Amino acid sequence: EKVLLTGGTGFVASHVLDSLVTNGYPVVVTVRSEEKGQRLLKSLSSFAAPEQVRYAIIPDISTKNAFDDILTRHQRDEPFTYVIHTASPYQLSFADPINDCLNPAINGTTYLLDSIHRLCPFVKRVVITSSSAAILNPPNHREVYNESSWSEVTWEQAMQPEHTYRASKKFAEQAAWSFLRDNNPRFTIATINNTYTFGPLSRSLTNSAQFSSAEVNTSNRRIWDLIHGKWRDASSGEACIPSTAPVFTFVDVRDVADAHLAALTAPGQRYYTVGGFFSNYQIARIVEEEFGEVLGSEVLPELKGQEDDFEEGKHWKFDVSRSKKELGIRYRGLRESVRDTVVSMLEFEKGT
Ligand code: NDP
Repeated sequence: EKVLLTGGTGFVASHVLDSLVTNGYPVVVTVRSEEKGQRLLKSLSSFAAPEQVRYAIIPDISTKNAFDDILTRHQRDEPFTYVIHTASPYQLSFADPINDCLNPAINGTTYLLDSIHRLCPFVKRVVITSSSAAILNPPNHREVYNESSWSEVTWEQAMQPEHTYRASKKFAEQAAWSFLRDNNPRFTIATINNTYTFGPLSRSLTNSAQFSSAEVNTSNRRIWDLIHGKWRDASSGEACIPSTAPVFTFVDVRDVADAHLAALTAPGQRYYTVGGFFSNYQIARIVEEEFGEVLGSEVLPELKGQEDDFEEGKHWKFDVSRSKKELGIRYRGLRESVRDTVVSMLEFEKGT
């Protein structure tokens, strides 16, 4: 049962790929360049069976019919049974909201679904990486969020940098569900609405000689910054812990990967995935307790006298019972997630 995985060089996708490989699926991964494809294959060399993972180059998913060639080619040979669509721009701000973010997110999703609909009669399920951004509605939070909740962000707000990314996720997910209603394809859809995601760096990053820290993905970057001295004042050593707002929930990327795999065969639904609450203060405390000696006193912020901006009961609540029940996810806690993230970063730096 062959799987097409889009955005294979990304952080979330690298863990989805690990799970697919471990579970024996043959996978075709889309990447944006030959160099990235080679780097990905190299990183898998001692892990995947020969030929189990292949790559196809799609430089930009927002190009109409971008997927036609690869879908047609594989349709003739061994057709895909499943598609997992993770590719989507994820940065804190975009110079051109429409072309850099909204179009790739929204059109990238509908063009992919359209190509599958026209060309791949054997695809049973498309799993789409959506986001809690399509669920949460800051600043007017619902008391309890679940899969029936939708962000109310508007297209006008999407033009403001702080809202562009979250709007892209909402409109892309809505476009997917609308495609399903309007076209009645043979395949069904499930979305994984993961919240802010931490976890070990991606395999292809940590195995690359050309690694640049700029490639650490957006959600892990705060942990990277913390262990590189950016949460303390250089001269006094005092904490300058960034505000945690607006995000106070996290999930471990390995749980997100498991959710994608389980969603290949679970009911075709939205699945909200959250491991728990967090704050930057709590991350700093965990890193101090677990890695204080290794990192040394010049790197971590002095926490005495600092306030945690997370207040129990002050924030929204989340109900992830569906992902626990239907996908079987048992969420990792913050300590495990932060610890393993830091270990992967330190191991990587040791190796370079
Ligand atoms: P990454 O930036 O690591 O991965 C994004 C992937 O999408 C990369 O492979 C990137 O390729 C690819 N991509 C982006 N734009 C295009 C495009 N126009 N054409 C082709 N490929 C493109 O981010 P994450 O792994 O964190 O995110 C993956 C998915 O998970 C996204 O859909 C994101 O919205 C979602 N998500 C992430 C969360 C998080 O906290 N990390 C939380 C909730 C959802 P390249 O690197 O080569 O540019």
